[in-house]
Amino acid sequence: MADKDEGVTPQSQDFSQWYLDVVRRAELADYTPVKGCMAIRPYGFRIWELIQQGLDQRFKATGHVNAYFPLFIPQSLLMREAEHVEGFAPQVAWVTKGGNEELAEPLAIRPTSEVIIGTLYAKWIKSWRDLPVLINQWANVVRWEKVTRPFLRTTEFLWQEGHTAHETAEQAQDETMTILGVYKEFCETELAMPVIDGQKSESEKFAGASRTYSIEALMGDGRALQAGTSHNLGQNFAKAFDIQFQGRDKVLRHAFTTSWGVSTRLIGGVIMTHGDDRGLILPPRVAPYQVVIVPIPRGNWQETVLPRAKELQAALTQAGVRVLLDDSDANTPGWKFAEWEMRGVPLRMEIGPKDLEKSQVVLARRDTREKSMVPMDGLTECVTALLQEIQNALFDRAVTFRAEHTSQADDYEQFKQLMEGRPGFVIAGWCGSADCEALIKADTQATLRNIPLASTNLHRQCVKCGEPSAADAWFAKAY
Ligand SMILES: [Zn+2]
Repeated sequence: MADKDEGVTPQSQDFSQWYLDVVRRAELADYTPVKGCMAIRPYGFRIWELIQQGLDQRFKATGHVNAYFPLFIPQSLLMREAEHVEGFAPQVAWVTKGGNEELAEPLAIRPTSEVIIGTLYAKWIKSWRDLPVLINQWANVVRWEKVTRPFLRTTEFLWQEGHTAHETAEQAQDETMTILGVYKEFCETELAMPVIDGQKSESEKFAGASRTYSIEALMGDGRALQAGTSHNLGQNFAKAFDIQFQGRDKVLRHAFTTSWGVSTRLIGGVIMTHGDDRGLILPPRVAPYQVVIVPIPRGNWQETVLPRAKELQAALTQAGVRVLLDDSDANTPGWKFAEWEMRGVPLRMEIGPKDLEKSQVVLARRDTREKSMVPMDGLTECVTALLQEIQNALFDRAVTFRAEHTSQADDYEQFKQLMEGRPGFVIAGWCGSADCEALIKADTQATLRNIPLASTNLHRQCVKCGEPSAADAWFAKAY
């Protein structure tokens, strides 16, 4: 892994190492003495806070409220929904002792909270008047992982998990789709990360769900990243946990529930969607610093340039722009330029004695590395507009990249060739059989990412077996 003053491994040489170098060099996260668990450093955590804010505001705007539930789940409770326990059993961490005493019943550390929350919903929901229940939890969860990678897959991670209960199947389905829409809009607007929203196959769905939907993004190395999931749980959990209510007709019935989540994995998605060989590139909406001001230390700059730089910082801050003034004299401007490029700050502002004379500053974009002279007069408006332009440009670039890395496969030979060639999405017909899906995975390592909501049906027959296909599916090698 690169040292502090080094660059990063080029993407073309080793994308995976590039990713690890960026995480470390941009000071997003670090390894810890706990295997598979990372420390999120302040710069990385600030990105998470901005993601949280953006999502939390959207959840509340769609009627949800936050609450908090226990970290531990008694073993007997976890065992109650058969498919759920089977799906999660290999990844559950157990607490068997408290102090020196063996526990009468082992406690699972939550891998997800359907079980514990379902138990509480059974107490809280009595009548149709209590519905819907629309609760979100911001929490950590633990899933014992064999192979880990910062942000993408760690044993402990941070996420939000929404858990809702409804009167009718239609309402639960509406909720599932509303959230999928929120996730897509959030990723595209805030993270500048285009996603495909669609339904997962039976074999890829959440353990215990009736239907799982996902958003899938394409990373810079052509691998897909599942960026969020929304599950319609039907009455499966309501039946396992006795979530019953008296209906409008006085008949006792089971509620319909949903659950949905996104995690710190989104930060990995941002890194791998936008970054380049100079390091991280952050979309302005989730950049801890949207602008870094670097004063050029010439002459009596501390009496002339610095006060002006501070004024500009104050004016931009006043306008709601997140600005860092890097006025330390420990490093040269050149070093600072490289360092803030590495850390992905969208816009750099240089200001020196000559700029003062001309009443201008130099602005350098991180995404295109273009420099321009901008008059101090009207600077705030110019910066605000540029930040939005960068946000849009990053999204457009990612959309173009995805289009260039998405192909159609008419037959299985072509499918296999595409999967062996340049990575990306391959769209093909699929009959709906889990066998075909498994054979495709065994042959090519590609998984069925999802069947888009806006799916086409160009192929009409399964790429593997030739049976009729009702909709095209998107395949890719995935994280
Ligand atoms: Zn088939």
